[in-house]
Amino acid sequence: MMEPMNIVRVLKHISGSSGCKMLKRNDVIMTGIVLLIALVSLGFFFLNKKEGSAVVITVNGKIYQQIELEQNNTIKIEQENGDYNEVVIQDGYVWMTDADCPDKLCVKHNKIHYNHETIVCLPHKVVVEIIGGEENTVDIIAK
Ligand SMILES: [Zn+2]
Repeated sequence: MMEPMNIVRVLKHISGSSGCKMLKRNDVIMTGIVLLIALVSLGFFFLNKKEGSAVVITVNGKIYQQIELEQNNTIKIEQENGDYNEVVIQDGYVWMTDADCPDKLCVKHNKIHYNHETIVCLPHKVVVEIIGGEENTVDIIAK
């Protein structure tokens, strides 16, 4: 059992240190700021995802078509000179299923899913890009 006088002394010791109090107040402010930033960025994340998730297909630098990422679709890109690409959007992923380009690099390209990812068909000057999609945080850290 602690004597009453001892408890009072301990309490006085804790509350008497003003530096300790300052630190605690700063901690509360910091936690509040961190929470606020987290909430705001979370809000932006959901807003971006809802509003802007789209696949933009450009041919020769001009926008050929813009399609929602959530919408499953198959887009055939046919150019006047006979160049041909086929893009599939399914479950938030985009990939090139067919093309009559000589290198077929675009067809071999991995499926894209994250914001700013692209599939490029150099011979046909076709670029498929995801805008406003999910941020690839792993990729950002790796860079
Ligand atoms: Zn290609």
